[in-house]
Amino acid sequence: MKIAIIGAGLAGLSCALTLEKNGQKADIFEQRKEIGLGYDIAELMTPILHAPIEDAVKFFSETYDIHLKPASNVQKIYVHSENESAYVEGKIGFSNMRGKYKESYEKQLADQLEHSKIHYDSHATYETISKEYPHVVVATGDPRDTQEIQPFDVAFPSAFAGAIVKGDFVRTEVHTWFNNNLAPKGMGYLIPHSTTEATLVSVYPQYKDEWLQKRGEFWDALVKDASRILKQEIEITQSFTIDDYMIGKCRYPRIGNTFFAGNCVGAITPFLGFGQTGSILSGIYAAQDMCGLGDYETLCKPLLKDYDHSLVLRRTIEKLDNHQLDLVTKSLHNSVVRKVVTQPNMGVLKGLSYLLKPFTSK
Ligand SMILES: Cc1cc2nc3c(=O)[nH]c(=O)nc-3n(C[C@H](O)[C@H](O)[C@H](O)COP(=O)(O)OP(=O)(O)OC[C@H]3O[C@@H](n4cnc5c(N)ncnc54)[C@H](O)[C@@H]3O)c2cc1C
Repeated sequence: MKIAIIGAGLAGLSCALTLEKNGQKADIFEQRKEIGLGYDIAELMTPILHAPIEDAVKFFSETYDIHLKPASNVQKIYVHSENESAYVEGKIGFSNMRGKYKESYEKQLADQLEHSKIHYDSHATYETISKEYPHVVVATGDPRDTQEIQPFDVAFPSAFAGAIVKGDFVRTEVHTWFNNNLAPKGMGYLIPHSTTEATLVSVYPQYKDEWLQKRGEFWDALVKDASRILKQEIEITQSFTIDDYMIGKCRYPRIGNTFFAGNCVGAITPFLGFGQTGSILSGIYAAQDMCGLGDYETLCKPLLKDYDHSLVLRRTIEKLDNHQLDLVTKSLHNSVVRKVVTQPNMGVLKGLSYLLKPFTSK
């Protein structure tokens, strides 16, 4: 079978790996000179919104023979609002590197490939590739490429300000901020890479032009609050901004022999912007379909359902002002609420909906 994959990211590479495990291979086109996103950061992989997967690293290993080595396991996640702080403990998930880091997830996936060829420095267009290859996987990480072929419902474009920061961090602890002064209707987060380095990010929907103009102010406020909470001066070493990062989902995961995977299908859950687990899964599912092991649209259904549920949750949290966010944060001190939110059998999504209900139903 002649298969082309556009994009050597999480979805494209896990697709190629699964093809290989089932006796096929692919030509992968990557616009960059090497594996890695344009930004080098830490990300979080959590089972949040992907019930019943409780441990994604174990799940990928045992179910699909795809092996990932995270940077750290996350045991504690702090939630900071304007005037409150709380935390949730347990098996929260894993942190991992992305981009050009030696141990980034995309590099780890590429290292496991044996037969597929990655064509570097090859910016591919669907129009050209589809003339040569009967089977095409669109996995560019950019839904604008999906939009050129079919409708893609955009929930919102998002704006990021982020940096690699130096300081003194606990590897197993992640911090999040839900505070409209730092990230309107969005969030801030800090994910350690090591005990001395971390990724600090402010991300929010680009609903107002004014919010883009005020990005510097939001960022400064986040750095200030992170320094206050972590009781140290955070040193910024490498900063980046991203605009118009689209979160949404496509109408048709497969059209003919073209498969849309990763961000291009709608693998990012809009609530907190987690897209890694869904992107890897969608790549695997596309390969399974091409190998006669399943139907892509059916396999993607739970992913797209998670997307819908998570969008409802996002629209709910967007309505909360800072006072309400303080109340939600405060409620995390209650052990019953904590149990509900982290209860794996109930699903974190249901737990969060339960938690937010009293704050939005008034
Ligand atoms: C700053 C930031 C922080 C994030 N944090 C998290 C997090 O903590 N947890 C989480 O789960 N998710 C997070 N996400 C989302 C997650 O990174 C994405 O959902 C995931 O990487 C998408 O995988 P993908 O395979 O679709 O695309 P990518 O992994 O982005 O890969 C796409 C690849 O395609 C290549 N490409 C693009 N166009 C072409 C072309 N025309 N021809 C050839 N190659 C092309 C690109 O160079 C790239 O290598 C974050 C995203 C951002 C931007």
